[in-house]
Amino acid sequence: MNFADQSHKKGDNVEESRLSIPSIKALVGEDESALVALDQTHVHRGVVAPLERLTAAAEDAGFSLCVASGYRSFERQKAIWTAKTSGERPVLDERGRPLDIERLNELELVLAILRWSALPGSSRHHWGTDMDVYDASALPRGSTLQLTREECDAGGPLYRFHQWLTDFLASDANPGFYRPYDVDRGGVAPEPWHLSFAPIANAYARALTVERLSNHLREHPLPLQATIEEHLTALFERYVRVPPGPESPEGEPPR
Ligand SMILES: [Zn+2]
Repeated sequence: MNFADQSHKKGDNVEESRLSIPSIKALVGEDESALVALDQTHVHRGVVAPLERLTAAAEDAGFSLCVASGYRSFERQKAIWTAKTSGERPVLDERGRPLDIERLNELELVLAILRWSALPGSSRHHWGTDMDVYDASALPRGSTLQLTREECDAGGPLYRFHQWLTDFLASDANPGFYRPYDVDRGGVAPEPWHLSFAPIANAYARALTVERLSNHLREHPLPLQATIEEHLTALFERYVRVPPGPESPEGEPPR
């Protein structure tokens, strides 16, 4: 892991980051001022020190923890959304097989996409506090990371890494990471690789309301906009809201 920007700017401090209220642009992936470069991606600067601790702990256990994807902009998420609604990118069913989108009505298509991809403006990747991680040392030579359940389940190359990660997240050494998509709540499919840094991400999650998202999308309409607008409250409950991550006890700075 290589941090390109190690300078200690204002907001480096986790406590400072968690207490400041994120702007609407920061919530929807249109403000990159809190980000620093990390490997091939960017993360919130308040996540750098905790991520270094997580990486070091992984290394001690024999894993090479890498971030496959951290920050993602609104434009990037919109490009994914657009490609899926147009059939340029496959839309997958429950078992990960491509669907024939011609047979779906607009709402069915929206729901099918949201199972695997976030609605632009509502992705936790917009915040820089969330990232998809993997063990680079475990991937067979020549293979590329897929980020699928099969890789993480028993028999998959990332199984041991995820077992270790589960134990680490439950330990006192965890600086505040958790898995927001750990189980299937009927919305987003489980993503064991997706980590969130709760002390900062919880503040973003609290600030992102359905009204704010609705206003943003009205100004930046997406393909299938009318269907999204009609069902936004229900979509938000099902695909955006997740339980907040554990934070340190009140009054105590996060570890
Ligand atoms: Zn993710």
